[in-house]
Amino acid sequence: TRALGKVYSPGSEAEVIALHGVDLRIARGEFVAIMGPSGSGKSTLMNLIGCLDTPTSGVYLCDGVDVATLDKEERAILRRDKIGFVFQGFNLLPRMNALENVAMPMGYANVRHDERAQRAQEALEAVGLGQRAGHRPSELSGGQQQRVAIARALINRPPILLADEPTGALDTRTGEEILALFKSLQARDHTVVLITHDPDVAAHADRIFVMRDGELHEQEREPEQQQKRDLER
Ligand code: ATP
Ligand code: MG
Repeated sequence: TRALGKVYSPGSEAEVIALHGVDLRIARGEFVAIMGPSGSGKSTLMNLIGCLDTPTSGVYLCDGVDVATLDKEERAILRRDKIGFVFQGFNLLPRMNALENVAMPMGYANVRHDERAQRAQEALEAVGLGQRAGHRPSELSGGQQQRVAIARALINRPPILLADEPTGALDTRTGEEILALFKSLQARDHTVVLITHDPDVAAHADRIFVMRDGELHEQEREPEQQQKRDLER
């Protein structure tokens, strides 16, 4: 992104300047964490990176494509092909069970009908929920819903995974399993952008950014932290 800005409701009384000229370049295969206080603009930035929203100033190139030049439909196609999104608050469909929620994005991606259920089942197993395929979100715990949302984000094997607080409602062990899953994606050349409040989670990333009042700053790393991470790779 170059000098990316976002103003909600510009010109009105309710105007909110959510992002001030954010410059961020994420390389393919990189694992980036974004931290920062509530209301600082993290989800706003994520929605722009995820092509769900357009900036009010600045330029965003997604895999070399200037997103502002695309119409709504073209943006939806870019999103479908490139991006998996784990939303803050999961956004699962309440009337569908876990398997159907996970299978849903395949409906837009021309995956053969008879393959969908099996792939969704495998994705649920990868997040440790093979036994819960028939449950609706209301019948799952918060952490389980979070894991369904992660399985859904990965089902079309997107090269870019965006996750907004994906480990927030998880216990330490499950959180670590999810992190290991993200790490294995990265090892397969996926790009991962993770929003988190947890410094221990962020410490697994290649680079850590901190958002403050709509401004993004890269965090200097302690040499020993860096070393620990290098050993992990
Ligand atoms: P949290 O950690 O609580 O999720 P955040 O860093 O994700 O916070 P954002 O959701 O990006 O914060 O919000 C940044 C600012 O923009 C906040 O002041 C928020 O009130 C405002 N904002 C977010 N979405 C909208 C919207 N759709 N319309 C107007 N203002 C918005
Ligand atoms: Mg947020």
